[in-house]
Amino acid sequence: MEKYELIVIGTGPAGEKAAVKAAYFGHKVAIVEREPVFGGAEVITGTLPSKTLKETALFFSGKYEKGLYGVERALQHEASIEDFMYRKKIVADAAGKEIYDNLMRHQVTLYQGIGSFEDAHTIRIKGQKEELIQGDYIIIATGSYPYHPKNIPFDGKRIHDSDSILLIKRFPTSMCIVGAGVIGCEYATIFATMGTKVYLVNDKEHILPFIDHEVSTDLVRQMQAANIDILFNKTVESVTPAASDTDMIIVKLKSGELLKVDMFLFAAGRSGNTQALDCGKIGLQMGKREQLIVDEHYRTNVPHIYAVGDVIGFPALASTSMDQGRVAVAHIFRTEDLEHLPQHFPYGIYTIPEVSMVGLTEEEAKQRHLSICTGKARYSDMFRGKILGATNGFLKLIFSRGDLRILGVHVIGHIATELVHYGVMLVEEKKSLNDVIGQVFNFPTLHDLYKYAAYDGLSNYTGHKVKP
Ligand SMILES: Cc1cc2nc3c(=O)[nH]c(=O)nc-3n(C[C@H](O)[C@H](O)[C@H](O)COP(=O)(O)OP(=O)(O)OC[C@H]3O[C@@H](n4cnc5c(N)ncnc54)[C@H](O)[C@@H]3O)c2cc1C
Repeated sequence: MEKYELIVIGTGPAGEKAAVKAAYFGHKVAIVEREPVFGGAEVITGTLPSKTLKETALFFSGKYEKGLYGVERALQHEASIEDFMYRKKIVADAAGKEIYDNLMRHQVTLYQGIGSFEDAHTIRIKGQKEELIQGDYIIIATGSYPYHPKNIPFDGKRIHDSDSILLIKRFPTSMCIVGAGVIGCEYATIFATMGTKVYLVNDKEHILPFIDHEVSTDLVRQMQAANIDILFNKTVESVTPAASDTDMIIVKLKSGELLKVDMFLFAAGRSGNTQALDCGKIGLQMGKREQLIVDEHYRTNVPHIYAVGDVIGFPALASTSMDQGRVAVAHIFRTEDLEHLPQHFPYGIYTIPEVSMVGLTEEEAKQRHLSICTGKARYSDMFRGKILGATNGFLKLIFSRGDLRILGVHVIGHIATELVHYGVMLVEEKKSLNDVIGQVFNFPTLHDLYKYAAYDGLSNYTGHKVKP
């Protein structure tokens, strides 16, 4: 039986980064993947496909060009579904190949098949042939799968989860999306931009409840303007499949309302991919939703077995999953280069418009009884914003009174997911409004938002307001 210092199960962002880091430091590493394509949800069903579809929707709709030239370009609905999916496939193929090449460059041994525990050091791989391999250490990076509630008759044709929606063969005329979390909101804005009438069913009074409410309120306003009906505090009682191709799906809400829609997407919740692993055999401790429980080093209750990425639950992001993999390897092989994830990391929501944040929201700061103040700058007031034709969007700083320390940064608008990174540094490094004001930025840039939000914050703080 072949023996390795480290066996990683899963080639998603968590597994790939763990495997290549360990191999880079000279260790003998094997990685096991059940799919023919590498990269997990990042490449196949999640991050990159949905982000590519967002850019494609913006391209076909000409949404941002409208602001630039002041002309309404008719929605190119003649764009076929093949056109729409074309770039998604190009990006996914290139990313899958890049991940495979990266593993090969680092001389990681690849096993194709479903991995499961034979015993605490032995992995059985069921692929075209069946093999057993042994590892001193094992990292589980098997990701997650969409949660399927019993009252939804998923068929992968017109009634979808967040994986099968990527395989649609035609544009829906109308769509009911359940779940106003990140995935639900992203797809709601992508399909609405392509001309689909979208109903977004949300069981709470806010969408994306973890983001700053001023930002979510603005996002709601912009989504409603884009023909998305958001049904707040509503839950689905039943979904009746369409009787024929020309009939509609009937969605009955617990409040009694009926929605008749062409397609249905359930986008609320994911569970850990642990079933096939046979975790019970080696006594791995499980949490809720089939997730694994780990300590701050990502170590399970079996000391030589680690788990990283979506399989351990929150925050379940590709960005954090990668670094969890690297932190686990640092702990296993004592590389002493990355002990833990930073306290503050950004959240990026690729809705149209984008939303991104780091640190505290205004609501969280108030719940903690912190004495805070805010400052805001609008894209439309920035010269770069004017050049881009921006009519919406803002950046908001939350800072503490007294030392003016920046506690949170919230952005909604064009490339918000890029702009936030300066804010990550400000929050992580405990910088103040004066540090921002003291910086020179290229001119004209959207980074000016930071400077003018800082000036606005100062004037709110001192009460000396020049601009309304
Ligand atoms: C629609 C959508 C949009 C998203 N957008 C973003 C975003 O914009 N930004 C962001 O940071 N994150 C985003 N995410 C989240 C991100 O995709 C996940 O957090 C990330 O992919 C998790 O990485 P992972 O390596 O833990 O698991 P995965 O990416 O799920 O990879 C797990 C891998 O393990 C393999 N596997 C599972 N079980 C076995 C087994 N028994 N044997 C062998 N192989 C196995 C799977 O085939 C898969 O390749 C999005 C997710 C979705 C669904």
